[in-house]
Formats: sequence, structure tokens, C-alpha cells
Amino acid sequence: MADSVTNACLANNERYAKGQAIHHPAHPGQQPIQPSRRLAVVACMDARLDVEDLLGLQTGEAHIIRNAGGVVNDDAIRCLIISHHLLNTNEIILIHHTRCGMLAFTDDLLKAGLEGDPAAEKLLGQATGRPFMSCQACSATPSAFHAFRGQIEALDAPRDDKNMERLTWDVRRGISSILNHPWIPTTGPDAVSVRGFIYDVDSGKLEEVSHPGPMGSFA
Ligand SMILES: [Zn+2]
Repeated sequence: MADSVTNACLANNERYAKGQAIHHPAHPGQQPIQPSRRLAVVACMDARLDVEDLLGLQTGEAHIIRNAGGVVNDDAIRCLIISHHLLNTNEIILIHHTRCGMLAFTDDLLKAGLEGDPAAEKLLGQATGRPFMSCQACSATPSAFHAFRGQIEALDAPRDDKNMERLTWDVRRGISSILNHPWIPTTGPDAVSVRGFIYDVDSGKLEEVSHPGPMGSFA
């Protein structure tokens, strides 16, 4: 069954949310290079997410790919292609989470602040509670920060319908990017399954995002 490991991780997560430790940190000795549960996870770098713990994974069982937001960007795609074609994984889990910092800025705002726009500097300082120090220089890289679409909100704002919707859009974008990538097979004999979730940093629970579905609107 294609989703069997993902389903096992969801069962582990229910136990994790109740305070049961499933991941056992210990030096395991020699292990194969291929992840033993054939799983790849893309998750946000947020310090509150212990990915192995919340999914109940042990050392050697999965590839964990992390970046700001858990976005499916060019580098995440690169990792997933290597993970599947060279290291034999066949299930992908995407994890975004409540209170994510990527809800609290836009790419244009951060770039303007870094380049020296005083209004952007002030806004970013207020939003983060940290004096924002402009670098007074332009750069072509990174080409994007991938802040989440929609009306920005205060950093670490509690979960509500609006920010859950914005998280949902980006999880769907990630699933769609994988499903449409020509080098990640999602049908046929070498198919990889993809499922996306939002992790609630307050409850410890994962909630699945349906796909396909609405992707957001400027209206
Ligand atoms: Zn985050």
C-alpha cells in the first residue's frame, strides 16, 4: 500500500500529541544508506518542529529536507529527485505549521528592508521585535524568499481561519509542484505518493491538507 508509512507516521503523531515519546535518540551503529521506511519529508526549519519526534521516525528511516517554510522550491525538488531515483524513497510528506514566520512578511518587504528602504526597515523591526539592520546593498540571490501568499500578519500570530487558509494554499502549491514535475513520477510502476499536512505547534497534531483545492486569490 503506497501510503502505509505515512499512515503509520500519522498514528505515531497521535501518540506524540499525547506526550508519548516514540523517537529514541541513540547511536544506532551501521545502517544502510537508503532510508529504511522509503520516506522523504519536506518540513519547515522552525525550531519548534522536532520532525523525527512528531512523526515517530527512528534514525535511518527517512530523508528530512528542511528550509524556511518547508516550501517545495528548486532545492527541495533537487533533493526529492535524488531521494527517489538514487536512494529508493517512494512516499513524500510535506509539513507546514501554525505560527510560521513565513506568514509575517512578503518577499518585496524583506528585499526592500535589506536594500535600505527605511519604511521597510521600520516595519520589519516592529514585526519581529528585533532592530532590523539594512545591508544597504542589492543582490540577485536568493531569487525568492517564498513568503506565503496573502495578507501578512504579526509574527507568531495564533492560528485562525485566515492563516490556516494561507498555509493550506502553500501546501497545495507544494503538492502540485511535485505532482507536475517531470522527474518525480507520481503514476505508473515507479510512482511516488505525496501528502501534505499542517502541524499545529500548540497541540502537536498534524492535520492533512486536501488536494486539489483552492490556491488563493488577491480578491
Ligand atoms: Zn515555519
